[in-house]
Amino acid sequence: MNEKESLGMRTSAALVPLGTLIGRELRNGNVEKPTVSYGQAGLAKKGEDYFLIKPDCERIVGDPSTSFSVFAIFDGHNGISAAIFAKENLLNNILSAIPQGCDREEWLQALPRALVAGFVKTDIEFQQKGETSGTTVTFVVIDGWTITVASVGDSRCILDTQAGVVSLLTVDHRLEENVEERERVTASGGEVGRLNLFGGNGVGPLRCWPGGLCLSRSIGDTDVGEFIVPIPHVKQVKLSNSGGRLIIASDGIWDALASDMAAQCCRGLPAELAAKLVVKEALRSRGLKDDTTCVVVDIIPYGYPLLPPTPKKKQNLLTSLIPGKRFHNSTSKEPNKLAAFGTVEELFEEGSAMLAERLGKDLPLNSNSGIFRCAVCQADEAPTDDISETIFSASSGPMLCSVCRRKKDAMEGKRSSVPTLMT
Ligand SMILES: [Zn+2]
Repeated sequence: MNEKESLGMRTSAALVPLGTLIGRELRNGNVEKPTVSYGQAGLAKKGEDYFLIKPDCERIVGDPSTSFSVFAIFDGHNGISAAIFAKENLLNNILSAIPQGCDREEWLQALPRALVAGFVKTDIEFQQKGETSGTTVTFVVIDGWTITVASVGDSRCILDTQAGVVSLLTVDHRLEENVEERERVTASGGEVGRLNLFGGNGVGPLRCWPGGLCLSRSIGDTDVGEFIVPIPHVKQVKLSNSGGRLIIASDGIWDALASDMAAQCCRGLPAELAAKLVVKEALRSRGLKDDTTCVVVDIIPYGYPLLPPTPKKKQNLLTSLIPGKRFHNSTSKEPNKLAAFGTVEELFEEGSAMLAERLGKDLPLNSNSGIFRCAVCQADEAPTDDISETIFSASSGPMLCSVCRRKKDAMEGKRSSVPTLMT
């Protein structure tokens, strides 16, 4: 008997049938928190992939009933310092952008905006170090049945609801595959084209110049240009209490495996083994051409040792046979596919690269005191000679301190920015 069978037999014996479980959910709401189980695997080629696993965070420190989990992947390029910096600072920067004293619902509602602020703040802080590397970030927060994913770059997160439906929770910020991003980069002062060595036809994927980066969003890349923005695509969904599996991985996986194939090759197995299998499957089809990192997270109904078994579904094998091309089955172009199955409720999705659209126009909490709080870095700024500009900023978008306002203008191509600590 193999491991898969033995686990399946053990789990099916003493458990409540899934239909009963879902019925119970409909009557009582999602009463019991799921169990979160995870595993990680990877192989290094250049050593620029990093990951973060924090299963026991607390909204209110010291109160385990307010627990949530964080999982993230950072795929660095042109060095490792941006990936390490983001791994060490991003979570704190996000949490500090959530207003104090929120209850759970308010906290989850504030999270998408805090993710944007935290990504931008981390990018500004990294630029101030004067280093040149960059990193993708795929950052996942799990609180009960609610999953919130923020991402820049091309490290994907997919959701397998175990009903045979696989959906993408991230968007690929690759110039080659994202026409909106090409237009934005061009409009903000970058040039998009292929590498052209000898004056002939360009070779390789579309890149932006100066710099030659294939991505349109990242943290870091100070030397490339401000049009490479750190503003994440954010998606928030709520699972039914039949649970689901997340597969978060760097492009070393996704250049080799379609989302469906990654999900399919490890279904029914515990997370730790699943992560190893996904990496193995990617290497089998493509070899070790890039850093390859995979984190598998299972959100499991309370009382189950594993995700409940799922009905079989026909797979589109064709998509796994096209070599050298990134796969696009089950993409975000079909956002309602999951909702149609009744297994996932979509709560929020926004991917605009315009900071003003992402932060809203709320007035700062402490405006009565004459002190303004920056919507990105949370710094309190007293009115100064700069007050006219500050007030203007309040009436036309989010309240920003002078450092963050300079960053916003630079990202929109309105001025070139030299990172500085001075205000
Ligand atoms: Zn600021």
